[in-house]
Amino acid sequence: MKVIKNCPSGFASNSYVLFDELSGQAAVIDPSISWQTALKGFGSDLPQVKYILLTHGHFDHMLCLAEWRERFGAAVCIHKEDAPCLTDPKKSYFLKFAGKNTTFDPPDVNISEGEVFYLGDNKITVMHTPGHTRGSVCYIAGDYFFSGDTLLCGDIGRCDLYGGDFQEMQNSLAKISNLTRNYTIYPGHGENTTLKAELKYNRYFCL
Ligand SMILES: [Zn+2]
Ligand SMILES: [Zn+2]
Repeated sequence: MKVIKNCPSGFASNSYVLFDELSGQAAVIDPSISWQTALKGFGSDLPQVKYILLTHGHFDHMLCLAEWRERFGAAVCIHKEDAPCLTDPKKSYFLKFAGKNTTFDPPDVNISEGEVFYLGDNKITVMHTPGHTRGSVCYIAGDYFFSGDTLLCGDIGRCDLYGGDFQEMQNSLAKISNLTRNYTIYPGHGENTTLKAELKYNRYFCL
């Protein structure tokens, strides 16, 4: 399975496209960028985008959600604790940080810990990691770990916004530190990293 990383400018988060060449199926993790830009490399041979997987409900991770949903009819998936962010611009911070009243239709799938999605034969597993928000999740696919704003390269996401909780974050980090594989980490903002490097150098793992 291929991962295509897009790093939009401004406050938009990283956006990732997972693509299974065999089945032609794809998923977008955090649609912060237009599908036209994210899928440019495909030309007119667009993949079948089955899922829009949200790591959490902050506005900067769903800037282009409506356009992706409309174009592909893909299922919007978010943890049930962050589902209210889709319909409340205060909870998503669209209002405060983007000055917009943006809302979306409710999610198609309210996900929870351990839920599994498939692209062809490739498995994507959900790990619930509250702390940055109550419904923050990470997505694990093969050797890839999509950490949203839970874990960043050398840092973690802030815990002072709506639903944030530093104690919960510490519990989530402990859960991540128990993983045995040296995943490549694709975070919601900034550079990629690896689990091994974070366990060694990220000071939040040493508290
Ligand atoms: Zn973010
Ligand atoms: Zn966030």
